[in-house]
Amino acid sequence: EKRMGGGGIRRLSLREVEEASTADWDIAADLHRALEAGELFLVYQPVVAAGDGALRGYEALLRWAHPARGIIGPHILVPVAEESGLIVEVGAHVLRLACAAARDWPGGLRVAVNVSPVQLARPDFPKTVAAILAETGLAPERLELEVTETAILGHTEQMVRAFEALKALGLAIALDDFGAGWSSLATLRHFPFDRLKVDRGFVSRIELDPRSVAIVRAVLGLGASLGVPVTAEGVETLGQLRILRRLGCNEIQGYLIGRPAPDPQPPETDAWAELGD
Ligand code: C2E
Ligand code: MG
Ligand code: MG
Ligand code: MG
Repeated sequence: EKRMGGGGIRRLSLREVEEASTADWDIAADLHRALEAGELFLVYQPVVAAGDGALRGYEALLRWAHPARGIIGPHILVPVAEESGLIVEVGAHVLRLACAAARDWPGGLRVAVNVSPVQLARPDFPKTVAAILAETGLAPERLELEVTETAILGHTEQMVRAFEALKALGLAIALDDFGAGWSSLATLRHFPFDRLKVDRGFVSRIELDPRSVAIVRAVLGLGASLGVPVTAEGVETLGQLRILRRLGCNEIQGYLIGRPAPDPQPPETDAWAELGD
């Protein structure tokens, strides 16, 4: 809690807590050390088929086990890694960990890995990915890279080439947080994505807000027209699952199905029994 000018006391926002706790912390230098010390690790969140809850794969999400500060999430560490350029090494480390883990999963399960715009903009990125696939022995068809629209803004020609080179390896590319940016349709015109992921911001409101339903329906229509599956992220309630299934959503991800965990956990499929259909 923090004292206000008027003498009142209010609760700090999460952002303020983060800022206060990072003020005297050279995160970039510490992150460099952490990378060497092996403090970065991945948690895996299940993704399932909307129809029957069957497991399709896991999304790998980055965490930092800081010896003094506890578990640090990507909202703090990724921007710092991007600014310092360390994201190139961190991102390669993430890919290596994810591909090595997925190689031991039952065949057919895929692993989704988030990729930073800074990584994508590097001309050698496709070569790095190819080397990691070869080194880990993961079949390229089992790897999906997730990029956000902002990853593509401002780099169009270079990005189109990167896309072609990556797709030529045999992996898939998903457009993450779809609808959260403003240039989604132009992005879709230039880049042959293999999947759309509807932003959690829409999913979280579909039970209350008809406009969010309309938007999700439109995204699903777009996916169908383009011939690509659509995943809804951030699904937390049975009601949301019911609406998404009715709208024809292909895959589901969210706390209702499973939280991210260091050891991939089987999905929670009780929801499908409770749907009663
Ligand atoms: P994202 O790729 O959209 O990942 C989904 C985020 O939503 C994750 O947060 C996940 O833990 C959270 N989430 C999943 N289901 C639910 C739910 O039902 N409810 C709520 N409230 N949240 C849910 P996380 O792990 O904090 O990651 C945040 C973002 O950081 C990711 O968003 C992704 O953009 C980025 N990120 C994560 N790992 C990496 C990485 O290895 N490299 C890069 N460049 N970015 C990463
Ligand atoms: Mg993602
Ligand atoms: Mg997302
Ligand atoms: Mg996100």
